[in-house]
Amino acid sequence: MSTGSILILPGDGIGPEVMAQVRRIIDWYGAKRGLSFDVSEDLVGGAAYDAHGVPLADETMARAQEADAVLLGAVGGPKYDDLDFSVKPERGLLRLRKEMDLYANLRPAQCFDALADFSSLKRDVVAGLDIMIVRELTSGVYFGEPRGIFTEGNERVGINTQRYTESEIARVARSAFELARKRGGKVCSMEKANVMESGILWREVVQKVHDEEYPDVELSHMYADAGAMQLTRWPKQFDVIVTDNLFGDLLSDVAAMLTGSLGMLPSASLGAPAANGRPKALYEPVHGSAPDIAGQGKANPIACILSFAMALRYSFDEGVEADRLEAAVEKVLADGVRTPDLLGEEGTDPVTTEGMGDAILKA
Ligand code: ATP
Ligand code: MG
Repeated sequence: MSTGSILILPGDGIGPEVMAQVRRIIDWYGAKRGLSFDVSEDLVGGAAYDAHGVPLADETMARAQEADAVLLGAVGGPKYDDLDFSVKPERGLLRLRKEMDLYANLRPAQCFDALADFSSLKRDVVAGLDIMIVRELTSGVYFGEPRGIFTEGNERVGINTQRYTESEIARVARSAFELARKRGGKVCSMEKANVMESGILWREVVQKVHDEEYPDVELSHMYADAGAMQLTRWPKQFDVIVTDNLFGDLLSDVAAMLTGSLGMLPSASLGAPAANGRPKALYEPVHGSAPDIAGQGKANPIACILSFAMALRYSFDEGVEADRLEAAVEKVLADGVRTPDLLGEEGTDPVTTEGMGDAILKA
């Protein structure tokens, strides 16, 4: 019996390079662990534009809606910088998020012990850190109407509108509480209820969902500015943080840099459960297409590999197998295997993208 279907969209730049290592790992799971996925591959971003003149073909969109999980590499690159806004590579990704209605963006910020001493990279990381930021992804100030640049009297005014409905807040809150139950049992909700009405409603709805459905989870509330301060002052106090689209955008980048390299960070974007009970889901590394290192075998595939581990956990309910994959990553790091991004200037002997894949498979 098939474990489920996966649509792979390698995309542009280093996307295909890091995704090639994920393919090997998926094959390993088939051969060694009896997880037989139906895997298919398609184009997104600049690669889709080159082939079809659009960053995401309708047929690809339909396949993504059918798949149990979509794995995406990265989109974009300097070759496409001058394209019209409507066909930019990034629009392919935005269309996927919008039409699949992926409202909960999960960004773990986890520091692997072996990388805790990052001093050679002149970066401070937080050993032992393990938090999960849940960012609302499909509403809020990035989407609210009215928006635009208008003329008022003799000058122009730029307008964006922060807007949240109760149901939009409730569904992302549920995602956070569900996650907390599988993790440390704590949720901290962040908004600006002191100065924003949308924040007042946010706090009220999160509290209500908690009291009625998740009283076993420990819930706290923080103003987002205080939250930003606490995140850098004492990040280990947090387990799951749930917040809106704008604050989540900022806070997840801050949290990410407490852990080290961009090449290490996975993400998941989840929507409502489909008929089979599995959520609509798209998994992708946080990093972009990294045109500066594309085609040189220098890219770190770990972010993409850990994104697949998230797919195992959240789409296929294979938490034990996800743990196995994460443990393999931890082991190769402990063994000192490093792609160039994980080495300081004085560091030597990096492995290639494929070399990292080899080591993880072996582990
Ligand atoms: P985007 O706009 O798509 O987010 P970006 O230019 O902001 O792209 P990235 O493409 O992620 O960001 O690249 C930022 C820097 O991080 C680059 O110098 C790149 O080489 C490095 N980088 C990103 N991902 C990786 C990776 N997987 N391995 C090694 N280095 C990486
Ligand atoms: Mg970027």
